[in-house]
Amino acid sequence: MDEAERKMQFLYALRSRGVTNAAVLTAMERIDRAPFIRGYFAERAYEDMPLPIACGQTISQPSVVGLMTQALEISPRDTVLEVGTGSGYQAAILSELARRVYTVDRHSRLVREAREVFDQLALPNITAFTADGSFGLPDQAPFDRILVTAAAEDPPGPLLAQLKVGGIMVLPVGQSDAVQHLIRVRRTETGLDYDELRPVRFVPLVEGVARDG
Ligand code: SAH
Repeated sequence: MDEAERKMQFLYALRSRGVTNAAVLTAMERIDRAPFIRGYFAERAYEDMPLPIACGQTISQPSVVGLMTQALEISPRDTVLEVGTGSGYQAAILSELARRVYTVDRHSRLVREAREVFDQLALPNITAFTADGSFGLPDQAPFDRILVTAAAEDPPGPLLAQLKVGGIMVLPVGQSDAVQHLIRVRRTETGLDYDELRPVRFVPLVEGVARDG
């Protein structure tokens, strides 16, 4: 299969799994997933599957990346926070749609490697930090959009507090070894509205910065 054919199949798989937003599909067509997957598994970059990355973590399934991005309803002037940089792939997709993307991971190695790919792909509107993302980024807050790509039992309070009025947060909630649900939280003038999107499976949101990188 040649490059063009692989890309067609990749986009077809996304559409057939419900990724229909044109801007999201364009972003996913532009950002090559392969550079975010180092080593042996890179050749499977165009399959709609989660794959292992360093530090025992995973790069999410492309259709799940697409559905989460779509659920965020990003507009071009938005500032977005992503918790769980992992490979950096999701942040790169967000960076095509938003003005500014901040992304944090508790593993400094993942942050370092993701920064290398952001540089290589010339994506200057992403800033990556090593931090415990459950506390958000108080210095950069508030955010128009927040995406959490690791599962918490409940939406972390500091993240809810860093969401602007009119803002949207998408996150998986539930216990790591049980069924989790992707939920969307909207901050209104008067409070928070929740809706449940679909069942998902993510690695858990873990407390604290990893000591071994
Ligand atoms: N969005 C990533 C996939 C994320 S996997 C991608 O596109 O590849 C989930 C990530 O969340 C892991 O890298 C893990 O280290 C990170 N993580 C877990 N708990 C965290 C926390 N409290 N703060 C920041 N990152 C966390």
